[in-house]
Amino acid sequence: MVQQVVAGLSCLVPAQAVAEAHRCLMCHDAPCTAACPAGVDVMHFIRALRFDNPRRALEVIRRTNVLAGICGAVCPKERLCEGACLRNALRDPIRIGALQTFAAAHEMAHPRRAARAGGPSSDAPAVAVVGAGPAGLAATDALVRCGARVTVFEAREAPGGMLAYGVPEARMPYAFVNAEVSPLLARPGVELTPGRALGRDFSLDDLFSRGFRAVFLGVGLWKAARLAGVSEVPGVLHALPFLEAAARHARFHGPPPAVGPRCLVIGGGSVALDSAEVALRSGAREVEVVCLENTDEMPATREDIAGAWQRGARFFNRRRVTRLQRGPDAFFLIETIGIRWKEPGRFVPDNAEDLPGTEARLVADTVIVAIGQAPDPDVVRALSGLKRDARGLVQVDPETGATSVAGVFAGGDCASGCGRTVVASVAEGRRAGLAIAAHLGLRPPTGPYEPALPRGVVS
Ligand SMILES: Cc1cc2nc3c(=O)[nH]c(=O)nc-3n(C[C@H](O)[C@H](O)[C@H](O)COP(=O)(O)OP(=O)(O)OC[C@H]3O[C@@H](n4cnc5c(N)ncnc54)[C@H](O)[C@@H]3O)c2cc1C
Ligand code: SF4
Repeated sequence: MVQQVVAGLSCLVPAQAVAEAHRCLMCHDAPCTAACPAGVDVMHFIRALRFDNPRRALEVIRRTNVLAGICGAVCPKERLCEGACLRNALRDPIRIGALQTFAAAHEMAHPRRAARAGGPSSDAPAVAVVGAGPAGLAATDALVRCGARVTVFEAREAPGGMLAYGVPEARMPYAFVNAEVSPLLARPGVELTPGRALGRDFSLDDLFSRGFRAVFLGVGLWKAARLAGVSEVPGVLHALPFLEAAARHARFHGPPPAVGPRCLVIGGGSVALDSAEVALRSGAREVEVVCLENTDEMPATREDIAGAWQRGARFFNRRRVTRLQRGPDAFFLIETIGIRWKEPGRFVPDNAEDLPGTEARLVADTVIVAIGQAPDPDVVRALSGLKRDARGLVQVDPETGATSVAGVFAGGDCASGCGRTVVASVAEGRRAGLAIAAHLGLRPPTGPYEPALPRGVVS
């Protein structure tokens, strides 16, 4: 199939995009939009593409999703817009994600001259955004459109959050992330301050005493969840630091991650399969994945499972690791047992029951635990004044992102938990950005392609 490569990512060519847009039924109550966490007006952006107007299509998408191209590529579309598309009943759904990425890629290939003047006035209220991941970037976009001045404080050296330091390069080239994110951060009124971490370099009180009128927290979850009896064995790796090392190697000249020829990954989500994929690309000859779920129960997308399968990963489904120890020659000896679900349809560890007689042993020289993420302890300490739930997540009003402390808002993984999506974080960041603007008495600009106020936000 003919494709163009823009900023490292394969995209549709214009003729394909127009032809695909012509397949759309232009549904009146478009279920694709209802299924999009960011509420992208799919029918209208596809109509613009039909008339060969990718710029207008991108304006429609960016009205509610500032990471249009990235989400088009990494969203689990079969569970969202494409899963809801009425074309499924006829044959194939519209390739909504590919069309969305095409619109963003067209803009990257034919950039408009950036505005050098304009932007918020010097007496506009200043807002601090902590974390330059999808939630922080979406909050920044909404705030600056409403006329606030925004300073983004980012702990790492580059923006993008998990898109820069988690999602593997083979799935989402950083050149593409950078091409979508840089114009937002270069807008008048936005300043990025990399290498500055909440808890390490400044506190919430410091931000208010420096004159910021409100704070948005989009710090994500950066501590790998631990598996009792496994994580504490010396030499066992965890997905997040492993993937961060691989991302730094691919993108920022870091050393390569160390992987032996036989690798075992524990977990059944997309992060586990990303770890399997990166292990295979980093020199592992065999990769085995052990997880509680059957293939159709795994949280990973069908695309990720099929990809890992095709690249040679072996799956041990409905099985759990009971014991892991170091054997001779630095090998790990892993004991596993088959499980069944006590209560059907509830695929969580405390619902798993061991099946005696199904014990099996595995051997590996690299073990990667990929069972989820938790809040960073430094961030938890820095946010000790905020109400948090039992998992350490920041408690927020779901409509506005307001926390228990006046003027402090939060969204994305740090408030909603792990195992979620880029687009959900974008939606929460945008919602909170608009709520902060309303809290500061700023009115969002009006016009057909400006962000509408979500429910619960009173201007
Ligand atoms: C390996 C992996 C693969 C994934 N693949 C997909 C996918 O294919 N599709 C999909 O939709 N979702 C995917 N996800 C989920 C998605 O990436 C997250 O849900 C999303 O990035 C969360 O956005 P966020 O802005 O809340 O947090 P993050 O993306 O985690 O960004 C938080 C930012 O805050 C910064 N930060 C942290 N602590 C501090 C501090 N103390 N001070 C200042 N800054 C700080 C971090 O450096 C980071 O830049 C994946 C997640 C992982 C881990
Ligand atoms: S549901 Fe499918 S066919 Fe209908 S408007 Fe959305 S993309 Fe087009």
